[in-house]
Amino acid sequence: MDAVSVQRVLFIGSLGRSGSTLIERLLNEFTDVAAVGETVHLWERGVRDNERCGCGEPFHRCPFWTRVGQLAFGGWSELDLDRAIDLRWSVDRSRRLPAMVHAHRRGAATGDQREYLDLIGSVLTAAGRVAHGDTGADVVVDSSKHLSSAALYSLNPRLDVRVLHLVRDPRGVAFSGTRAVDRPESSEASTMAEMPTYKPARTAGRWVTDNMGFTQLGRLDVRTMRLRHEDFLARPIESLADIATFAGLSAARLPRDVFDGTDGVLGTPMHSVAGNPMRFGGHHVTLRHDESWRTGLPLSQQRMVSAITAPARRFLGY
Ligand SMILES: [Zn+2]
Repeated sequence: MDAVSVQRVLFIGSLGRSGSTLIERLLNEFTDVAAVGETVHLWERGVRDNERCGCGEPFHRCPFWTRVGQLAFGGWSELDLDRAIDLRWSVDRSRRLPAMVHAHRRGAATGDQREYLDLIGSVLTAAGRVAHGDTGADVVVDSSKHLSSAALYSLNPRLDVRVLHLVRDPRGVAFSGTRAVDRPESSEASTMAEMPTYKPARTAGRWVTDNMGFTQLGRLDVRTMRLRHEDFLARPIESLADIATFAGLSAARLPRDVFDGTDGVLGTPMHSVAGNPMRFGGHHVTLRHDESWRTGLPLSQQRMVSAITAPARRFLGY
């Protein structure tokens, strides 16, 4: 891979608690894939707060991220971190989506967008190279999840971004969102000891706007593949093969030896920054439907979530 070649990125787009970490961990087992977590949070939770990487090391002690910083910027200390954080909050957020749509129609990012995309492009390209030498990883998996990040990153001519849009039953997402989960990655510099929780009505509203937003990315010529979490659990091997093909990977590289369809042993460390605490989970994974919302979420709340999401739910097959 030379300096002007394009890094392929599989971007996982979804609402939180939609099963993205499981898929990210399984994809990371492919030999030509490097999963790097949620780069949207890299600057604050990684570079500034030194939270733990998915490999268990604090960010600045992780050999993977140390080398990414060297390759991208000559070391993280050489980066103007305040500027990076300012840029992120100035261009990569939902309220900036109209500016991204304009940029897609124009065919190019401008101003702050372009400056920020230079930083993100440097990080993702360096991550591919650190993972797999000068040839680079075929695919870097970024699980930033946000619709705004998907729309923004796909404006970067140095990146070939393909968006895997994951959807999960909104009642399951809403119930998961009410439950507190510890964040073992939190550091002294970080004040977030648990993942944030959300009221079901808020989750339901976000479920509609985010998921319907992802269905519109194709109109901006962003390549998108939609996968329902429930379908993935029903046909995991076939779904992984579909994702691999979509990402431009050879399905023959599917890690069948570590994963038999419902059970697997994951042997590859994942250098992911930020994300669901499941990324620290043990090496053993079992795939199963989580229907606990049927008994855990009060019936009145189930009905409310169902009502708020009704038209979008039908469109997405729920
Ligand atoms: Zn690491």
